[in-house]
Amino acid sequence: MSIIQKAGIGEYAVITLIDSTEVVREAVRLHSPMSDLSIQALGRLLTVTAFMSEGFKGREKLSITYDTDGGLGRLVTAATRLKVRGYVENKDYELYDKDGYSDLTRGVLGGSLTVIKDLGLKEPYVGKCSIARGNISDDFSYYFTLSEQVPSAVHVDVIIEDGVVMRACGMFLQLLPGCPEEVKVMLQDIVRDFYAMATMMDTMTFREMIADRFMVFDVEYYDEEKVSYECSCSKARMDSIVLSLGEEDALNIIDEQGLIEIHCDFCNSYYRYTRDSVERLFNE
Ligand SMILES: [Zn+2]
Repeated sequence: MSIIQKAGIGEYAVITLIDSTEVVREAVRLHSPMSDLSIQALGRLLTVTAFMSEGFKGREKLSITYDTDGGLGRLVTAATRLKVRGYVENKDYELYDKDGYSDLTRGVLGGSLTVIKDLGLKEPYVGKCSIARGNISDDFSYYFTLSEQVPSAVHVDVIIEDGVVMRACGMFLQLLPGCPEEVKVMLQDIVRDFYAMATMMDTMTFREMIADRFMVFDVEYYDEEKVSYECSCSKARMDSIVLSLGEEDALNIIDEQGLIEIHCDFCNSYYRYTRDSVERLFNE
């Protein structure tokens, strides 16, 4: 089970810790085979996506497109509240650094990041920024600070051993308005401790980590919540896509290709329609 723990740090900041191990394992199960590099990139992005959906109250929707110039190509994630999904365009692509680790920065290189939030208002919120570092942590610190104007520190990580996801996690610290400069400096120092959170998770709960590191502050814990990997595709949704083609065009495709096949990139499922099922659909 993947979990999310949020806590208020006095009136200065809010910290959110996420154990996204199960979410990333489910992504790997659905998209397998994946290179370590693509697991690292998608796992980190899914963790950020989970964090960004946490503030939703009801039917809001989020989608993130991480359009890289590197070999991984495009990464896409989407979410409703605490339910995330995603895929990588070139999931086979691998690139190692000189120490033999997947080289995320060079695998991503640069590019652009687009965040679309459908908050149920007339127009969706669209935030954009360029990808400066390509490690996803720094890219989103930059995105939250500049595009959403919330000064933020982000650390996301995926630990992979022999192709198995051992741990996936994230730390997000966001400053509240009016946080004094001297407190900011203190918080920046503390945040660095969380770069090792994947290891800390072996022996400590999230509440223990927060209590230990933010000892001098007045900490207020929110209820722990669950995060899961869930796709929103369904037979009904695919039916409506086929219906939108119109009967004549749908049958023309069947004449040419033998069947209509719709692929869901998020969960790697195929929906197939034969002549019989198309005729039935249009005569319902
Ligand atoms: Zn799906």
